[in-house]
Amino acid sequence: MLLFLIMTFDVIVIGSGLGGLVAGAKLAKEGKKILLLEQESTPGGYASCFILNDYIIDLGLHAIDGMYERDPKIEIFEDLDVFFNVEFEKIPTGFYRFTNKRKDFIVPDSAEEAITSLTEQFPEEEKGIKKFFKTINTLTKHTHSIPRSKFLQAIVGPFVPILFSSIPQWGGKTAGELFDKYFKNEDLKLALAGTIQYYGDDPYKLSAIIFALALSSRFKAGTHYIKGGSVKLSYSLANFIIEHGGTILFNRRATNIIVKRGRAVGVEYVSTKRKAGKVNRVDAKYIVSNASVPQVVNDLLPEKVNKKFRQQINKADVGHSILNVFLGFKKSLKELGNTSYTTVVNNEGVINLADVSTNHKSDYEKRNFIFVDYSQIDSRLAPSGKSTGVISTVDYLENWKDLSKNEYIEKKKEIAYIFIRRLSELIPDLVQHIEYFYVSTPRTKYEYTLNPQGTLLGFAYTIKQSGMNRLKSKSPIKNLYFSSAWTFPGGGFSSTIWAGWQCAEQLLKKL
Ligand SMILES: Cc1cc2nc3c(=O)[nH]c(=O)nc-3n(C[C@H](O)[C@H](O)[C@H](O)COP(=O)(O)OP(=O)(O)OC[C@H]3O[C@@H](n4cnc5c(N)ncnc54)[C@H](O)[C@@H]3O)c2cc1C
Repeated sequence: MLLFLIMTFDVIVIGSGLGGLVAGAKLAKEGKKILLLEQESTPGGYASCFILNDYIIDLGLHAIDGMYERDPKIEIFEDLDVFFNVEFEKIPTGFYRFTNKRKDFIVPDSAEEAITSLTEQFPEEEKGIKKFFKTINTLTKHTHSIPRSKFLQAIVGPFVPILFSSIPQWGGKTAGELFDKYFKNEDLKLALAGTIQYYGDDPYKLSAIIFALALSSRFKAGTHYIKGGSVKLSYSLANFIIEHGGTILFNRRATNIIVKRGRAVGVEYVSTKRKAGKVNRVDAKYIVSNASVPQVVNDLLPEKVNKKFRQQINKADVGHSILNVFLGFKKSLKELGNTSYTTVVNNEGVINLADVSTNHKSDYEKRNFIFVDYSQIDSRLAPSGKSTGVISTVDYLENWKDLSKNEYIEKKKEIAYIFIRRLSELIPDLVQHIEYFYVSTPRTKYEYTLNPQGTLLGFAYTIKQSGMNRLKSKSPIKNLYFSSAWTFPGGGFSSTIWAGWQCAEQLLKKL
């Protein structure tokens, strides 16, 4: 132990969310000496699961996008041996079922079929639908064509308006403006914005490019799920770090990033298992924080070294959170007649796309929600013959943070009953087959990952905070880097995996 404490590492990674795991795994593979500190007892952050009554609950994966031939994740997963340990299951039931009492139909997960299906539903919008799909494809092509190296970016920069004209055209616009440009029918806009809760809580604040890229990726290759849950991916990466000589300390929370002469040189940490435990210190050439950027500037860095940066971070908008009701069923929901993996349920009172943001702050009785039915695939989350599902709705920490223990328990129960009742309007026999439910609130998410507001995205995907405007991995403090949903390109599995990879590539040039 003494030897461990006087060791200097190449890199200390704080946090084992996907951004931290991927950065750590790549650096370990390239022979760097890695120490990863994780405050929880399992790896993954939101990419994690826990077991309740024989059911596996997946905290933060409903569906993973991409996985097409040239998706950058494929190269990363091959490099880090992920495909040896993790099986991806394609979701076979289309992108999602959209229902709001006025409309009830499947949005398929291929662009061609989606155009046909949407045109059948909204024949008067045929032209706009075709143009919309063309625009999101062009935006994807243009965004992916921007060179990765800063040098090439500087050369290409002046030609962007000519070569990649869709980027300046849509860069300053919101998803709402994108829909308004091509469609008149509000139900069509609402249907296409069905999965908005994974990216933003207000279509008229969410960056058009971010939502276009998200949709386009799903219409290109559909979505996948990890058999056995997202924790399989996290364990695969954590084991890879250990197999490549890295060290992971679970139940250790970083409490300070030590800065000497303007450089990050080490980390202090404590055990989360012991109250008032000893403070340990380890040193490294570089520090990578997968822990949230606000936590780093407000709690981990010395006050005097980062005043300006702290002000900048504390002014930024933090993304929303999600409330989940996890459900375990004695039977497969597929047998009960449900046919969709993802069902987007909009409240009938939501008439215009502009109503969505108000709806997200309305009564839980009326709030739009998404239901994911894992029984539609071989998810391996439930014992044979049984199944699991999860309800998700946009929510905010302020609705939960000041409640006493009893009030908190009671409110969780009350909300679970509301959503179970609302779900049983779609799947009538569901209630009698429920064996358990568990509610995860924004407060649960904050407590588990220490992400401010319990956000799943880091900074909100507003125009000012997305794409090239998003915070970069290299921090203003020398030798301190970020690798998480909070930095470029942003939140979600694909983005945080990419963030981790990019961060490792930058460090490998220096180490
Ligand atoms: C309900 C839900 C559903 C989602 N569904 C999807 C989906 O279907 N598809 C998709 O792509 N994405 C989805 N996401 C988003 C995705 O899960 C996250 O954006 C992504 O996993 C975040 O990864 P991250 O690297 O930023 O780290 P995080 O997951 O935020 O983890 C941070 C880690 O750092 C640790 N940590 C924090 N502070 C310290 C400290 N001081 N010391 C030590 N350790 C510390 C935490 O314990 C945690 O393990 C979902 C998220 C949620 C919550």
